Amino acid sequence: MTQTSHALFQVAQQCIPGGVNSPVRAFRGVGGDPIFIDHAEGPFFWDVEGKRYLDYVGSWGPMIHGHGHPEVLAAVHAQVNKGLGFGAPTAIEVEMAELVCALVPGIESVRMTSSGTEAVMTAIRLARGYTGRDRIIKFEGNYHGHSDSLLVKAGSGALTLGQPSSAGVPREISQNTLVLPYNDLPAVEEMMARFGFDVATIIVEPVAGNMGCVPPEPGFLEGLRAVCDQYGCVLIFDEVMTGFRVAVGGAQALYGVRPDLTTLGKIIGGGLPVGAVGGPREMMEYLAPTGPVYQAGTLSGNPVAMAAGLATLRLLTVPGFHERLAAQTGVLCKGLAERAEAAGVSMQINHVPGMFGWFFAEQPVRGFDAVMAADSKRYARFFHGLLARGVYLAPSAYEAGFLSAAHGDTEIAATLDAAEAVLATLKE
Ligand code: PLP
Repeated sequence: MTQTSHALFQVAQQCIPGGVNSPVRAFRGVGGDPIFIDHAEGPFFWDVEGKRYLDYVGSWGPMIHGHGHPEVLAAVHAQVNKGLGFGAPTAIEVEMAELVCALVPGIESVRMTSSGTEAVMTAIRLARGYTGRDRIIKFEGNYHGHSDSLLVKAGSGALTLGQPSSAGVPREISQNTLVLPYNDLPAVEEMMARFGFDVATIIVEPVAGNMGCVPPEPGFLEGLRAVCDQYGCVLIFDEVMTGFRVAVGGAQALYGVRPDLTTLGKIIGGGLPVGAVGGPREMMEYLAPTGPVYQAGTLSGNPVAMAAGLATLRLLTVPGFHERLAAQTGVLCKGLAERAEAAGVSMQINHVPGMFGWFFAEQPVRGFDAVMAADSKRYARFFHGLLARGVYLAPSAYEAGFLSAAHGDTEIAATLDAAEAVLATLKE
């Protein structure tokens, strides 16, 4: 008997909250039932009914080489044959740490975790332990995982569900989180003039990717660096999404601004569950066992995840990798802009290498308010039109799209043809 996504979703809703293990997967932002995936290869995946989709979600970022790259799979298979995990040090985690330190400008020492959420949680605790201060500053629509301190005006699924601040977070905790508009340096300077010496850290997505894709305005990241230096607080770049994607050295390399702490995830695990936090050795030594800030993990540095991550990182350090990814992203986004204009549909298209945000809006999208002003209902129609034509975008107007190295000219041309057909149906 053929399983259908609809039938699976009916059963799933009986035994999994909302039928999914992460909220955005439920399609609530676009309506309809989610599709259930069976397998994937290169830029494509196939649902349980055998229909093929061109995938622009890429497991929400990790699949920068496309699905099932042979070298990544071979590395995983070789490691699996040696054992799944030991809870004791291994050579492969040292190899990973050395490579990350060599590639990311702001990292001299790195601790692996099992998810991006844990990495950020650790970075926040470390910043507080290091400075002896409690307050933190984050930006509206930035998402840093689902830990208590950071689920305040958060992006991603929290935004999709209209719950940017979660129930269950004690007021005493959220009171220490100050939230400011993204890309608004004067607002940061003003807040720091009042509270600067109480602020442990400013945490930012250096390219916001959890409210669509919103790149930093010129001077914004530099300005954050300057105020952190002025008030002695820790600058955290949350590069869970941008790390190794927008450049080998992440957004800090692309924009030439060095944070104190960097969080990583997604690509560094090659599709398996991983996160990491890194920074100057002197600051990282504040973590246990050398320092007073506690952090641990049963599966941290898991060797199978390290194998997938290392193979993934090695493949993207080949010369020209990001130049090609950037060029392909540009071709896709320019092609879409042309088609939207020809169809008379107002779209704003943001992109950085390997990442894009498509908004149905009249005005450029440079911050949270502009994201919220965009037409999410139109996005839902666009999404379903493309889905019917075998192109899978993020099932929410508030998520970035991702390209992989496996998205070639043919796939991009097919996407643009499909988009042209759908755009023709979107003009009011
Ligand atoms: N930080 C950023 C910038 C993210 O995009 C995400 C996830 O999307 C996280 C943190 C949380 O990572 P994880 O979902 O692995 O816990």
